[in-house]
Amino acid sequence: MGRTAHITESRPEQGRVKCQHRDKCWTGCPFGGYFSTQSATLPAALKTGNLTLRPLSIVKELIYDKDKKRVTGVEIIDSETGLTEVFHSKIVFLNASALNSAWLLMNSARDVWDNGLGSSSGELGHNVMDHHYMLGGMAEIDGHLDKYVYGRRPTGFYIPRFANWGNDKRDFLRGFGFQGNASRSDFSRNADQLGIGASLKDGLSEPGPWSVSTVGFGEILPDHRNKVTLNHDVKDAWGLPVLEMDAKIRNNELKMRKAMKEDIVEMFDSIGLKNATAWESTYHMGKGIHEMGTARMGRDPKTSVLNKHNQVWDAPNVFVTDGACMTSSSCVNPSLTYMALTARAADFAVEELKRGNL
Ligand SMILES: Cc1cc2nc3c(=O)[nH]c(=O)nc-3n(C[C@H](O)[C@H](O)[C@H](O)COP(=O)(O)OP(=O)(O)OC[C@H]3O[C@@H](n4cnc5c(N)ncnc54)[C@H](O)[C@@H]3O)c2cc1C
Repeated sequence: MGRTAHITESRPEQGRVKCQHRDKCWTGCPFGGYFSTQSATLPAALKTGNLTLRPLSIVKELIYDKDKKRVTGVEIIDSETGLTEVFHSKIVFLNASALNSAWLLMNSARDVWDNGLGSSSGELGHNVMDHHYMLGGMAEIDGHLDKYVYGRRPTGFYIPRFANWGNDKRDFLRGFGFQGNASRSDFSRNADQLGIGASLKDGLSEPGPWSVSTVGFGEILPDHRNKVTLNHDVKDAWGLPVLEMDAKIRNNELKMRKAMKEDIVEMFDSIGLKNATAWESTYHMGKGIHEMGTARMGRDPKTSVLNKHNQVWDAPNVFVTDGACMTSSSCVNPSLTYMALTARAADFAVEELKRGNL
């Protein structure tokens, strides 16, 4: 659905060629046509000669020097040997994903702050967000039986946010988008029917009618009550405290979900689709696989964990640039924003290092 972050011209100097229509996006794209970490950014970083990948290192904590008010490096556990090791650095970019970055901050500098590094505002671990999801719509499309799909370009349609824009006023804040696709039902639909001979074979070689289906992604508001904390009574295989989540969608999101179902049926009906229906199944925080929040950025160290450059207020040589930094979840897929924030913070960090400020 909508996976179109493809280069349109081959870039041999980057070891990437344009889309080969092989439907390999899901594996990270061996051709480098579709953007992914494996096909684009990791090879570029390796080329600099400055990247060391350590997939077996579990970062246990950031080492905090309370006199310098800086982090001096990280302590890791080797996941195979169980041995610990310390790596020193001038700066740390923490990108363990929204929930794990919060975990790591909470498990660091606990001799200084009970709730860990970055907790002085009382906001660390709070304001967990996601996109509420697990609902959508479907409908049948008459005709077009002479048409079929060719090639394997794995993309569909996107309906951007329209609720609460301009004159559209709702009884909830913010909005939602839809991602979907149209397809013909599969060739095997008659396989369990009684039949024999040419008519059975002909029936199995024809695709079925067209239908359209879509899923909605709604914005979740930041709410201090939605939080993750460390549970020191339950340890993982490496003896580390596990993360506990206490977060749920509330009235605003529940009202929005009702509107999402009504709107998609109305939209499908109004463009002449048949038998439009909406569906919904249980959503829990995290099921939208777009976790955000936990270390919000802001202007005031009393109300945020990070400053506007993604630096932890309590340790400015630590940058958190993943979904943890988000103060709002919008309703669009978030990862490109994390990448943009990371590029911006990296640029700032380099300049600050050159100026001797870090
Ligand atoms: C099935 C699926 C589909 C998705 N589709 C989209 C989409 O279409 N568009 C979109 O924008 N987003 C999408 N997302 C969300 C997207 O994958 C995430 O937003 C993005 O990967 C977050 O990037 P990140 O670098 O913060 O975290 P991650 O990609 O999760 O990377 C974090 C890394 O840190 C490592 N790590 C964590 N803790 C530690 C530790 N203590 N020590 C050492 N390493 C650690 C992890 O092993 C991992 O390698 C999807 C997610 C899923 C699951």
